[in-house]
Amino acid sequence: MQTQMLIDGRLVAGQGPQEDILDPATAAKITAVPAASPEQVNAAVAAAERAFVGWAATAPKDRAAALLRIADHLESEGAGYAALESQNTGKPLTAVLADEIPAIADVFRFYAGACRTPVGPVAGEYQPGCTSLIRRDPVGVVASIAPWNYPLMMAAWKIAPAIAAGNTVVLKPSEQTPLTALKLAEALAQLLPRGVVNVICGRGEPVGKALASHPRVRMISLTGDVATGQKVLALAAGNLKRTHLELGGKAPVLVFDDADLESVVAGIRTFGYYNAGQDCTAACRLYVGAAIHDRLVADLTSAVTRIKVGPQRDAGVEMGPLISSSQRDRVAGFVARAATLPHIEITTGGRARAGSGFFYEPTLIAGARQDDEIVQREVFGPVISVTRFTDTEEAIQWANDSEYGLASSIWTRDVGRAMQVAARLQYGVTWINTHFSTISEMPHGGFKRSGYGKDLSIFALDDYTVARHIMIKL
Ligand code: NAD
Repeated sequence: MQTQMLIDGRLVAGQGPQEDILDPATAAKITAVPAASPEQVNAAVAAAERAFVGWAATAPKDRAAALLRIADHLESEGAGYAALESQNTGKPLTAVLADEIPAIADVFRFYAGACRTPVGPVAGEYQPGCTSLIRRDPVGVVASIAPWNYPLMMAAWKIAPAIAAGNTVVLKPSEQTPLTALKLAEALAQLLPRGVVNVICGRGEPVGKALASHPRVRMISLTGDVATGQKVLALAAGNLKRTHLELGGKAPVLVFDDADLESVVAGIRTFGYYNAGQDCTAACRLYVGAAIHDRLVADLTSAVTRIKVGPQRDAGVEMGPLISSSQRDRVAGFVARAATLPHIEITTGGRARAGSGFFYEPTLIAGARQDDEIVQREVFGPVISVTRFTDTEEAIQWANDSEYGLASSIWTRDVGRAMQVAARLQYGVTWINTHFSTISEMPHGGFKRSGYGKDLSIFALDDYTVARHIMIKL
């Protein structure tokens, strides 16, 4: 198994402490991955800095060709990547193969096209006797720090727009899930000029911290927890790095009385428990109209009870384990505290599964109130709360009454109501009669403590470039 890091075009073993990598379905050790030493962090940043001038000057069509080669590689090796990702994260193998790998390859393809067709203000004589034009130039060395829930996808979301725009990258995957990033590193050693992408391993502290505070890193892109975002922001202050933060979420799901109950139930069953709910956009906070509430709770309970939970390769498995024992215990803590409240009813689930592995049952919590912890805090597990609302104003107010602002959805047959409510939600995305889809062409990112900065779309190219004004006196 490939456990070496990529620095300056060469695969090298980390010289720091080893991290055991576990299979979350069995708790068995898959391998151990050594972390980068402080010298190796510096070497990766230095390699990215050396590569920057040449890569920034590479014609967009040549950068695009490299991105297309990466996409082709990901597709042709898709089965290998999917097997590794599934083993390291516990995700059902079929889901990684069918959902994630094609989407990951598409991100590289999208940026291969997007970097050749920049858009922006038109050059002209805005002051008599002078011509002004805008350039969008890359920022420099970007440190990309990724979480464990979608390891390869997050690596793609970070690497593709950054290098398409002409930056060079030092990527640090999560210490819990480095395996697919390291497999990709091996391929990138062949597919890109040396130093354009470097991949180093290690924990948030010291390795992530060393990157976030490094004086030669010009931008830091983090997907992770809110608390990590706050730490990275403080570390970035040293040399005023540009920051791009994709943090947590607690997506409200507004179900109006006229919604198509069957499609709501099918949708929430899928979009609330996909990836065992370890998704910052998971449909986890339901607000349901009074007339439809009781039927929805009953139907959703029976649908959720039928979710097939099991190890990655079991036939028909829909939901795997959580990433770690500590994540499972954290989720169990939220549910246990909710269960002590007299108004709460746990209609299905509410237990960790006995035996090895970090399984937790898909759980539905009815009767939740707006101030309850289970409504306010991100659980990041297979747990959905249901709260009854009486009118549209109340639903909007409760939906926006959150420290998070990443994703939301509205379920109704009334298009006018859907658009009016969507306009008032303070979330980076609002889906109507669906939830959860991200597409390469559209931006993904939040408000409030969910952070700022856009992944995907041409908006990410804006984030990974600096707008510069060139003025010519005629
Ligand atoms: P995390 O914050 O613990 O770790 C994320 C990354 O940051 C890891 O690589 C970690 O090593 C690194 N890190 C930790 N401390 C650091 C420090 N002091 N300095 C620099 N780097 C540091 O998050 P996680 O547990 O891996 O992922 C789960 C979190 O990610 C959830 O809160 C989830 O909502 C969020 N998330 C957000 C999005 C989004 O698009 N908004 C997507 C996926 C996950």
